[in-house]
Amino acid sequence: MRRIVRSIISTAMLLIVASSAQAGNVDRLYVIDCGWAHAADQSLWSPGVNAGEPIDLSNNCYLIHHSSQGYLLWDTGITDRLAAIPNGQYVPPTRQTWHRSQTLIAALAAIGVRPADVRYVGISHFHPDHIGNVDEFSEATVIMQRVEWNYAMQLPQKPFNPDHKAQLIEGDRDLFGDGTILFISTPGHTPGHQSLLLRLPKTGPLLLTGDAVHFQSNWDNRRVPAFNTDRDNTIASMQRIADFLAKEQAELWINHDKPSSEARRHAPEFYE
Ligand SMILES: [Zn+2]
Repeated sequence: MRRIVRSIISTAMLLIVASSAQAGNVDRLYVIDCGWAHAADQSLWSPGVNAGEPIDLSNNCYLIHHSSQGYLLWDTGITDRLAAIPNGQYVPPTRQTWHRSQTLIAALAAIGVRPADVRYVGISHFHPDHIGNVDEFSEATVIMQRVEWNYAMQLPQKPFNPDHKAQLIEGDRDLFGDGTILFISTPGHTPGHQSLLLRLPKTGPLLLTGDAVHFQSNWDNRRVPAFNTDRDNTIASMQRIADFLAKEQAELWINHDKPSSEARRHAPEFYE
């Protein structure tokens, strides 16, 4: 009997040791400049408001280091090829010109990270300013909503290699089961758009929007871009985000909002 008790106790202790070895936190979050755009008419994003007014949009990638699980890259920005084109690339449907002042790969190298070090690439949605460099991370697992993947991969021009290793999720997902990195389903901009909630030990909880909202005044007024897939879903997703912010006391990081992006520390500095 005593032996059985002893064996139960030692098994329990092993389990405790194993689970504490698994536990970890997000110990570094790098904000990486992944391009920027100059758009001729911001009312494309805010129908009827500021017609004919130009706007500059930031675009960041976010490199997240989890102490026991390694690197997750959230979005990959506009293609690195644009770094070699000084005048950028004009995109007729949205009358914007995209630029890149550096490549993502060079920005990662500058902080000592190679593409092979990135285990996961989380993608908010399939638009070119977010998936431009997915194929640079051929060994990583892409994490996308299944709806988004299915929609994007039936298009004549695939956003990236359809044979890429992928983890397709449906709804919300706590990536490592420890509450540190949570994918949140926020459809509307595209059919399976998602956002990311991070819980950092020192900075606190942050919510990275993807393109659930594009800039601050659109958030403040719940404005929906003319080209979004679904207006009602967009409004519902903004409300979901607002509910998360209230519940978590989280900070909202609007990816394309240039003034708030400029106020953030960029790599090589990081958030803990
Ligand atoms: Zn975008």
